[in-house]
Amino acid sequence: MFSHLLPEFLVERRSDRCIKCRVCERQCPNGVHHYDPELDLMFSDESPCVGCQRCVVFCPTNALSVYPHPTTYRPNASWTREKLQDLKKQAETGGVILTGSGNDKPYRIYWDHLVLNASQVTNPSIDPLREPMELRTYLGRKPDTLEVEVCGDKVSITSRLSPNVPVETPILFSAMSYGAISYQAFVSLAMAAKEFGTLFNTGEGGLPREMREKFGQNAIVQCASGRFGVDPEYLNSAAMVEIKIGQGAKPGIGGHLPGEKVAANIALTRMIPEGTDALSPAPQHDIYSIEDLSMLIYALKEATNYEKPVSVKIAAVHNVAAIASGIVRAGADIVAIDGLRGGTGAAPKAIRDNVGIPIELALAAVDRRLREEGIRHKCSIIAASGIRCSADVVKAIALGADAVYIGSAALVAMGCTLCQKCYTGKCAWGICTQDPYLTRRLNPEIASQRLVNLLRGWSHEIKEMLGGMGINAIESLRGNREHLRGVGLEGWELDVLGVKGAGE
Ligand code: SF4
Ligand code: SF4
Repeated sequence: MFSHLLPEFLVERRSDRCIKCRVCERQCPNGVHHYDPELDLMFSDESPCVGCQRCVVFCPTNALSVYPHPTTYRPNASWTREKLQDLKKQAETGGVILTGSGNDKPYRIYWDHLVLNASQVTNPSIDPLREPMELRTYLGRKPDTLEVEVCGDKVSITSRLSPNVPVETPILFSAMSYGAISYQAFVSLAMAAKEFGTLFNTGEGGLPREMREKFGQNAIVQCASGRFGVDPEYLNSAAMVEIKIGQGAKPGIGGHLPGEKVAANIALTRMIPEGTDALSPAPQHDIYSIEDLSMLIYALKEATNYEKPVSVKIAAVHNVAAIASGIVRAGADIVAIDGLRGGTGAAPKAIRDNVGIPIELALAAVDRRLREEGIRHKCSIIAASGIRCSADVVKAIALGADAVYIGSAALVAMGCTLCQKCYTGKCAWGICTQDPYLTRRLNPEIASQRLVNLLRGWSHEIKEMLGGMGINAIESLRGNREHLRGVGLEGWELDVLGVKGAGE
């Protein structure tokens, strides 16, 4: 069918700079650039361009520019360009519109309406370059009371403690499965987590056997609705187990890894036949109540000899606080909450852009509810979705998180430009693809170093911000809303966040 769609991007090539090296032609997986040997000229067909910017970055003479196509329909506040294009796409295909990465709609980003405190005069600030500053965080259930035995000058804890996992910075890598991302990207995350002393998350794609010994102690292994790759060895190889109930980008629906992406090692890791579709059902078929969830939590604890904390990950939805309370009472040691802007390899656009609530409001509501019920210490909270910088991390912790998951930020560190075309399997940066020509573009040694640099930079900045507030341990900031003030927020928003307005 002849397509009525307007191109999304405009590709401009400066002929005075182009040396016809054909780098752009080789770098583009979408066939935008081509060389005509008869005319000895480079040409572009911009209609398949996805704006990944790979050609722009790799052009040795800075001859290329790629930007949003200026051609537009008659401006219409109701029928925007995006609405018209989406409708035309569906008229041409009759299908669901898929997308990748996180929600890009202009919902309020509360991080940008929260400001942090700093010490002045009465409580001196702390210089993190001269004083010790503690970012280590222990993830897991804490005891109701702590009993100690003092013997001479020795003090020992006699209370029975639940398993806790220490991380050297309160930043973890989000669940991204091998299959959705390339082996190279998956290994890069594992290498960076190990080097920095934090955790990566297998998502629902399993943990390849050859990685278990080396990276298991930095892995969170997921048990999701498809139960791919789940067996006792998988569970016991990890630092922590996570039951995935929901995902911020697609609350309430399952997932689908097409058979053509299920190559030999992915099939082996997921324990499914090679080339078959990996379908994740929307619900976990054995969980229809908090009691059912409790049975799975304790089954996983049993399988891991009560040595590993069990996390339950949910999408942030309307009654998230009540759900989180039930999860903690069901026996979970960690509640992970993934908000409206959470990323994905593939999701229906209608779901990604319209379902769920912002993580800032969900996090504040959950933290407050658990405190009111006197059970906040029984779990750690991990907040996820749309964490873009170290200040977002600090604000999340002041709103009640113990730690955050970063997904898109980690991908961007590796090269991703948030082009949102992960579901096509043609990621130009070698991240969200299984094409061997493309995956070879990602060198795990280099990508993991980029990730470690990101964690190091953010951790330094977090220490600076803590020092400025006169705090020397991240623990002292957790849920401490006195260090936050709202700017430009409505009364109801301040109430949900539990934060005063600036000047109060
Ligand atoms: S990469 Fe740059 S210099 Fe090379 S052919 Fe493409 S536009 Fe020309
Ligand atoms: S991972 Fe690749 S395909 Fe997905 S948004 Fe990033 S650059 Fe685009």
